[in-house]
Amino acid sequence: METFGCQMNESDTEVVVSLLQENGYTRTADVEAADVILTNTCAVRDNAEQKVWQRLDMFNAEKRKRSRTGTKPVVGVLGCMAERLKTRLLEADKGVDLVVGPDAYRDLPRLLGELRGGTAAYGVNVALSQEETYADIAPVREDPRRLAAYVSIMRGCNNMCSFCIVPHTRGRERSRPVATIEDEVRRLRDEGYREVTLLGQNVNSFHDAGTTGGADAAPAGATGTGAGAAAASAGGGYETAAGFSNMYKLRGGQGVRFTELLDRLTTLAPGVRFRFTSPHPKDYPDALLGLMRERPNLCKQVHLPAQSGSSRVLAAMRRGYTREAYLALAHRMREAIPGVALSSDFITGFCGEAEADHEETLSLIREVGYEQAYMFAYSLRERTHAAYHLQDDVPEAVKQRRLQEVIATFREGAAARNAAEVGRLHLVLVEGPARRSSAEAPQVSGRTDTYKRVVLPDAAVPATLSDVEGAPAFDVRQLLPHHMGHAAGGATVGASGGAQAGARALASGDFVACRVTQAGPMSLHATPLLRLSGGLQDPAWAALQALWPTAEAASPLASGTSTLFAAAATPRSLHVSSDAGVPSG
Ligand code: SF4
Repeated sequence: METFGCQMNESDTEVVVSLLQENGYTRTADVEAADVILTNTCAVRDNAEQKVWQRLDMFNAEKRKRSRTGTKPVVGVLGCMAERLKTRLLEADKGVDLVVGPDAYRDLPRLLGELRGGTAAYGVNVALSQEETYADIAPVREDPRRLAAYVSIMRGCNNMCSFCIVPHTRGRERSRPVATIEDEVRRLRDEGYREVTLLGQNVNSFHDAGTTGGADAAPAGATGTGAGAAAASAGGGYETAAGFSNMYKLRGGQGVRFTELLDRLTTLAPGVRFRFTSPHPKDYPDALLGLMRERPNLCKQVHLPAQSGSSRVLAAMRRGYTREAYLALAHRMREAIPGVALSSDFITGFCGEAEADHEETLSLIREVGYEQAYMFAYSLRERTHAAYHLQDDVPEAVKQRRLQEVIATFREGAAARNAAEVGRLHLVLVEGPARRSSAEAPQVSGRTDTYKRVVLPDAAVPATLSDVEGAPAFDVRQLLPHHMGHAAGGATVGASGGAQAGARALASGDFVACRVTQAGPMSLHATPLLRLSGGLQDPAWAALQALWPTAEAASPLASGTSTLFAAAATPRSLHVSSDAGVPSG
């Protein structure tokens, strides 16, 4: 079984593996040994589909080879491409036997049984559902480190942005019951997972209408002021970001919305770090920003897909906001959530995009400043609003030239933002050995709260808690760059026997406080200061943050006095016309 596309597809693959294991199948990475070859596909852009067609050619060759020995495998296409193309996949002469859409995975064992039993020549189920969330299926997660997990909380999208195929391949929005999400997160917490990413096509539009919630009240810790009050009264507890609107009829009624769900989950698993994707900007009410500011285990990372910086193009895209509303929200986020990292999606050359519209996109990128961006030249998708009603009238060469300008503008800003990281304090979750680790210079890598990759020397790092009974309290002042030996009240925490007590090399799953020393081309380099034995709730982390000198928060490069690192610094991650991007939001 292989997976193309977004995190939702990866999560769906875990559900499919679970369903098939329950029915006696075991997973293999060896195509030549497989009785069934399944590919979970993406349809968001044409080149995503081209990759799948190439894989199907390979599977077809494998099938022909094995037909001589009577062991030819069943080949199936799952996911968005199956939903989009349906029986056209069977007719394409690529050896496809099975076509199953994203809402029909429960039918896979039956369809496979018929095919393998010889009672059917092919199998197709592309029915979309208004209810299916696979809430009762325990996904099979195969990461032995038990580090990070995806939890799908809702499916489908109601927004019908004019360029997007997703509502046609994933169907209408529906959310999982809160209790089933809480059960899954509780299990992950108890199994020792350190990070959970909540998933959905419009994840922050989550709404479990069947569970009683405090939808009218801001959750504990949230300091939102209810800027979307008009929308709130229209939707009965539903609140958009100020200046944003829905392109579909608001669902009324109470229940648990996204902010309350986050409140519940981050309280239920305080030692687990939470992220979410993919959101729509309209679903960032002030209460959500308040919660993100207050809750230490809610990552300060916000995906804010703009798509364009021109109000005229945004209207053609049916996005439900103007340039001004988007900019106001981005500025509000920076004020509400100190240190927040913003990322976005951009499409160049959409129907009717003039040079002046494109310039507005460039100026928006400069004004907001993103850490990460998914940037694509527009490619028309059948069945979308744009395909029926708009002209794909920007020449391909112009789309590509504008894409290069968008990329260059993004890179320039991201490089400056990356360079400004030098000297900053970050909490990193260690994932494992770094790609360039060697016996002479062992290194580990991990990610910050803001999703930046960080490489650390794999040396013994002191811990906040020690096994040494009666050891004196650890003094985090030892770790401050300019405050060593200075007296400062309230800086002692834990039960460590000094800076080296409990020291050991870093391991996958450790939370470690680091000081950034260098902004490299693809990642940051940092010095590990302290392993937080108490995890995210370790009081040493709060103490260290409180004491960290603000002058260290920005390097000299940030004020433009040097270009030493700026020349080398490039964005942490750059996605250009990639298939594995964010298909939604
Ligand atoms: S771009 Fe995102 S919000 Fe818009 S229709 Fe597609 S999935 Fe929905």
